[in-house]
Amino acid sequence: MIKIVKAVKTLKNNTIFLFETQNINFDKTILITAVFHGEEPQGEYIVNEYLKLDLNGIKNKLLFVPCLNPDGKARGQRQNANGIDLNRNFPTKNWCISNRHEYFGGIAPASEIETRFMIEILENYKIDAALSIHAPFKVVNYDGPAEQLAEKISQLTGYPVKGDIGYPTPGSFGNYIGVERNIPIITLELPEDESNEELWLVNRSVLDYLAYEY
Ligand SMILES: [Zn+2]
Repeated sequence: MIKIVKAVKTLKNNTIFLFETQNINFDKTILITAVFHGEEPQGEYIVNEYLKLDLNGIKNKLLFVPCLNPDGKARGQRQNANGIDLNRNFPTKNWCISNRHEYFGGIAPASEIETRFMIEILENYKIDAALSIHAPFKVVNYDGPAEQLAEKISQLTGYPVKGDIGYPTPGSFGNYIGVERNIPIITLELPEDESNEELWLVNRSVLDYLAYEY
């Protein structure tokens, strides 16, 4: 029912995987990504739990990237092995070179293997909506035409909706696909003070909604 359809090696010889549900008749195609930032591993736990389920009868096709930044995760750091914040490395119109700090977006847009992995997915599939799982702010942030979806996810999780995170994010995935491609994208910020098991209990409903109802 679910297959690995893409696997790419990172600089530190870890592997990024793309899983795809194999349902032939489906309505929308939804991309779910976790661990853009290596020190936010909670989303991978939730995705991996979801991948264990019997997803027969789902309405939509689901694509999962359980861990986009395995090199950063191995080091417990936000950035990838090159010290680059992947959520600032997308080739958006407002991309610009920044100082070398923790949000450093690289010396060129799409310079990183991990960023190109995501761009290729967008080139190979017609994505109708995306969910990107982060931590630790406990909010449902959105870009593009995703306000209604954000309200629904807020109802399911109890996390408040926040349309604007409060600071500019040039080169972010939300900018790239939400603002510039008009694809609804939710950046789900999990709370930091809950265990993986507690987060799974709450957030499974979000994935179920995207699989069976959206
Ligand atoms: Zn993050």
